[in-house]
Amino acid sequence: MIKFCPLFSGSSGNAIYLKYRDTSILIDAGLSKRKITQAIADIGEDASELDAILITHEHYDHISGIGVMERGYNIPIYANTSTWKEMPRIFGRIREENKKTFETGKRFVIKDIEIMPFSIPHDTADPVGFSFFLDSKKITSVTDMGHLTETIAENIKGSDLLLLESNHDLDMLINGRYPLKLKKRIQGEKGHLCNKDCGDIVVKFIEFGLKTVVLGHMSAQNNVPQLAYDTVRKCIEENGYVIGKDINLVVAVREGNNRVFLL
Ligand SMILES: [Zn+2]
Ligand SMILES: [Zn+2]
Repeated sequence: MIKFCPLFSGSSGNAIYLKYRDTSILIDAGLSKRKITQAIADIGEDASELDAILITHEHYDHISGIGVMERGYNIPIYANTSTWKEMPRIFGRIREENKKTFETGKRFVIKDIEIMPFSIPHDTADPVGFSFFLDSKKITSVTDMGHLTETIAENIKGSDLLLLESNHDLDMLINGRYPLKLKKRIQGEKGHLCNKDCGDIVVKFIEFGLKTVVLGHMSAQNNVPQLAYDTVRKCIEENGYVIGKDINLVVAVREGNNRVFLL
């Protein structure tokens, strides 16, 4: 059985849980050890049994809890070389033997889980999304991406479940209180996906077998879950697909009570 849960998803902290057979991993750890441990316990699992934490990129909301998680539970941490160079100053010292490296674009294995880290356009050293191969099922998680690239499309193809960024509503961002420079960064080629872009991407992959889409990494300032859901729903329906029949659409809340997906 595959158990997948976006424990936390959003600009104030990210941590996604995945368990398959005897292997459990976390994708990012951008919150305190206490919060992550509690969230894992809330879905009936044990943080001390984690086999690895995979890191997408070195932004604070993805790695702020890495140091305390590694020091507390002695967990191997996986990131690419460029990301490792940027990280330790953010979370402090960790055991040398737990600093594991993967290569972007090259599959690797952690016990029962095969993982493909792929390049995404974002304003950090070498940011990645991940696809997970779990016997006949494929799960892809990709957030913090300015736009869809060929590489991302190739990796989303054939996924049964996709966690995709639906970061902001474009009008809320443009009319909101953020400084102009930050608005430009978010909208940029290496920024974040808006709800409409997210919807357009989802539609492309339904014909490739995509069954469930989880909207994630929502902005607290510039988005509302219902608005994100409605925008993506509209894109799906305008293309002739039916929610609940052709595809399931779910919003990952920023914190607490997130749905556990069993595949
Ligand atoms: Zn982020
Ligand atoms: Zn980021």
